Amino acid sequence: ASLVTIDNVDMRYGGADGTLAVSGLNMVVERGEFAAVVGPSGCGKSTLMKLVTGLHIPQQGLVTVAGIHVTKPVSIVGMAFQNPTMLPWRTTLDNVLLPLEIVERHRRRLRKHKKEYVEKAEHLLETVGLKGFGSKYPWQLSGGMQQRANLCRALIHEPELLMLDEPFGALDAFTREELWQVIRDLHASQDVTIVLVTHDLREAVFLADNVHVMSARPGKILKVHK
Ligand code: ADP
Ligand code: ADP
Repeated sequence: ASLVTIDNVDMRYGGADGTLAVSGLNMVVERGEFAAVVGPSGCGKSTLMKLVTGLHIPQQGLVTVAGIHVTKPVSIVGMAFQNPTMLPWRTTLDNVLLPLEIVERHRRRLRKHKKEYVEKAEHLLETVGLKGFGSKYPWQLSGGMQQRANLCRALIHEPELLMLDEPFGALDAFTREELWQVIRDLHASQDVTIVLVTHDLREAVFLADNVHVMSARPGKILKVHK
């Protein structure tokens, strides 16, 4: 069964004369699939990610997640985008816990089982090489460390769908390959569907089941390599 469908979508920025970012975009992501999306710079990859997460609503066409028409930000999704967006007044640990405070269902659980969630956050931080950094503030972390913390934040609520837009961009090659392994283990061990945008073909081929290739702007999926 498919978890994500994008059906004949057009998305234009800035009104009728604005930039047509994607046009006639079609994509299906199956439940449990690890999909990579590759394509030239500016072709609409980030736009695609924002359409699926409900951060943008298209002028034309239909996006569904778990069979539901996307008309607002989707709560079963974990997101990590290329620019780390940690709240500066919160520690790293409290940034990682943030998604649990947004959805009421999680909020109740967090109140009841705070200790377990803190342990889980600490475990995630350890997995990405940030053991002991939970009490630091974002400005005390490098860009790459913030990016890794962002990844933990995307995972804390065990999302059904994980959307990753160049999440390894600011990392050195060594750390990047370590995180590839983290993501691969995650996909192997859990019932999670992943969509990863990357410039790096090697990364796409190493990680994904299917590589969805986009055309130049206005982007659409040209073919899927299985
Ligand atoms: P990619 O992620 O593949 O580099 P994007 O989805 O970021 O591509 O952008 C697709 C096109 O839409 C580009 O031409 C970009 O400049 C434009 N674009 C993206 N976001 C906006 C925005 N908020 N306002 C106007 N144009 C935008
Ligand atoms: P990417 O190409 O990987 O999306 P960018 O640095 O081009 O990275 O864009 C980062 C974000 O800035 C985009 O996701 C979009 O929201 C915004 N953006 C990009 N291009 C434009 C643009 N021409 N006008 C306004 N906002 C833009």
